[in-house]
Amino acid sequence: MAAPGSEMEAAAGAAPEELVCAQGRNRKAVLCQRCGSRVLLPGTATFARRELFLPAMKKKTALMGNSGQDGDVLQDHWLVEDMFSFENVGFTKDVGNIKFLVCADCEVGPIGWHCLDDKKSFYVALDRVSHE
Ligand code: ZN
Repeated sequence: MAAPGSEMEAAAGAAPEELVCAQGRNRKAVLCQRCGSRVLLPGTATFARRELFLPAMKKKTALMGNSGQDGDVLQDHWLVEDMFSFENVGFTKDVGNIKFLVCADCEVGPIGWHCLDDKKSFYVALDRVSHE
C-alpha cells in the first residue's frame, strides 16, 4: 500500500497527460488564446518545468517600459530549442536580457519567455496558450 499522500504528490509532479506524449513532446498544436493563430505544430516542443515570471497579458505596446507590473509565476512550459520551430511568434524588445514572446498576429502576450544568454531556450507557458 502506498504511503498517504504519495499518489497526490506524483500527480502534482507529472506532466498533463492529455497534452504531453510519452516522449515528453506536445501532442497538440499550440494556439494563441485570443485569435487562434498557430504558434507551434504538434511534436515541436518539449514539456519543461521552470519557474518564470510573466507579466499579465496585454498588447505588446502596453508591455514595454512598465516595471513592477502585475503578473504570474508560471511553472509549466513548452521548451523550444530552435526559434525556426515556431509557426508564428513575435517578440517584445529586450527587457534587460529577457525577451517576451507574443502572438505574431494579435500581438498579445506574453505567452512565453526567452533569455538572451541562452539562445536555445524559448519557453511557452501552457497557461497562456490554447491547445488543439
Ligand atoms: Zn493572437
